[in-house]
Amino acid sequence: MLVSGRLTPKALSVGLIAFIFLICVTLASAIAWQLKQSANERLMNARIAVSNIVRASGQQAEDTLRQAESILSNLAERVENDKLDAEQRTRLFKVMASNVEATDGIQGLFIYNSNGDWVVNSFSSETVAKNNSDRSYFIYHKNHPDTATHIGQVILSRTTGEMIIPVSRRTQYPDGSFSGVVLATLPVAYFQHFFERLDVDKQGVILLALNNGDLLARRPMIDTLMTTNIAKGELFSRYLINSDDGTASLTSMVDGVERVYAYSRIPGLPIVAAAGLSLDSVFDTWWTYVYQASIMVVLIIIVLTSLGFLFYRQIQRLLVAEAELRLAQHDLEHIAKTDSLTGLPNRRCFDAKLAQEWSRTSRTESSVALILIDIDWFKQYNDYYGHVLGDECLKQIAQLIGKNINRPADLAARYGGEEFVILLPETNLAGAVNIAEEVRSAIEAADIEHRGSSVGIVTISAGVASNHQDGVIEPADLLEKADSLLYSAKKMGRNRVEHQSREDLKT
Ligand code: GH3
Ligand code: MG
Ligand code: MG
Repeated sequence: MLVSGRLTPKALSVGLIAFIFLICVTLASAIAWQLKQSANERLMNARIAVSNIVRASGQQAEDTLRQAESILSNLAERVENDKLDAEQRTRLFKVMASNVEATDGIQGLFIYNSNGDWVVNSFSSETVAKNNSDRSYFIYHKNHPDTATHIGQVILSRTTGEMIIPVSRRTQYPDGSFSGVVLATLPVAYFQHFFERLDVDKQGVILLALNNGDLLARRPMIDTLMTTNIAKGELFSRYLINSDDGTASLTSMVDGVERVYAYSRIPGLPIVAAAGLSLDSVFDTWWTYVYQASIMVVLIIIVLTSLGFLFYRQIQRLLVAEAELRLAQHDLEHIAKTDSLTGLPNRRCFDAKLAQEWSRTSRTESSVALILIDIDWFKQYNDYYGHVLGDECLKQIAQLIGKNINRPADLAARYGGEEFVILLPETNLAGAVNIAEEVRSAIEAADIEHRGSSVGIVTISAGVASNHQDGVIEPADLLEKADSLLYSAKKMGRNRVEHQSREDLKT
């Protein structure tokens, strides 16, 4: 991962991608979390708002019904205890008319006898020849001995033609037998008007229903109000059976709208109040916020990934430049070490290699040998064939020398002019002499024409020295010894290899 304290290019690229990915994921998660929080908050606020609406509408219904209850019990008390003669009926009419007048939400009051005939009503003091024995509330009281207030399903008033909620009570003779019914009519419109003043959205709903699911009032109004029963809806079938009040998110069985509802049973009365705000309105501005936030996140991610891509490309370019530089450096090093004419290592390279080998052999006490080679009569070659062919000849000789160096550690170099040198690590004098002899005979065998030489072909002379010889203390000594032996070879007629032992013999 690290190259001399620096990240590797691959690690750098992976790191960059991971870093950008992490920023994008963190950003998206943070925004998503924020949106979720805000959604929860909206839902919570909607629940509070809708609960308040339920409380207000429930309270209003309760107040109205309690008043009706109280008026009816008062009327029943009079009916049961006073004789209903003409005078009493006129008095009752006045009381009933003023009750209606004084009580919001009560449209009419009625007294029926045990046959269902109209006895007194709050609309007129005249006797009305009508019969209500067919009404379900009448039948109910006739068949139920209890004197509790009964709230019936919405019906159309026979007096006003409006939709009304019948609130009624049984009257009975002292022996407990049925003597008739007292009735208060509550116009549905009264509740509707109240609902209109409460703050719900266009798709919102406020309703009152009997415990059996029959609707009593609803905003928005529906044509089928009188015949709609919502007992099978989730509100009744799932929530109201478990608790008397609470909140819930559900889809209306009447209009299919998804809402946040609050519901509450009105204590002591067989009535449920409920209200709902549509999820669309609750999350209306929230969705705008979601779109804006998403666009912002997407834009940031695009900008980040683009920047990341630019950085990545820049890194790749730097890497390519670095690789090219390294290649160029390598080429330069090669050029600096190589002789341009022959392609062999040059004198500078040889000097460095010799110093290196020398220090190694000094440590290990191993041998190192050196062959110094000089082409015979090369001045004449140039004179005869010209410099260009002289150069070609030098290349040929260099190749022949190179071919006879086999071990990787051996080094053949152009020493200068038409002189070559071969450095042979881990080689004793005898081994080096052999190699020198091989080189010499290979060049002789190459049979390169040389009219300027007495032998007619190009030949070389060589001096061989090794580090284990007397007087060789440092690299320069080795070179000097080889050079003097080369000189001897020249003097002794050329095309030959000279070494120490031969020189010893001679002296
Ligand atoms: P010998 O060594 O046998 O005593 O005779 P020689 O003619 O080779 O003598 P010397 O070493 O004095 O001459 C070297 C000649 O090599 C001189 C020069 O013309 C030639 N020479 C040196 N470098 C180059 C080169 O790069 N190209 C060519 N064409 N000739 C070179
Ligand atoms: Mg020479
Ligand atoms: Mg020469």
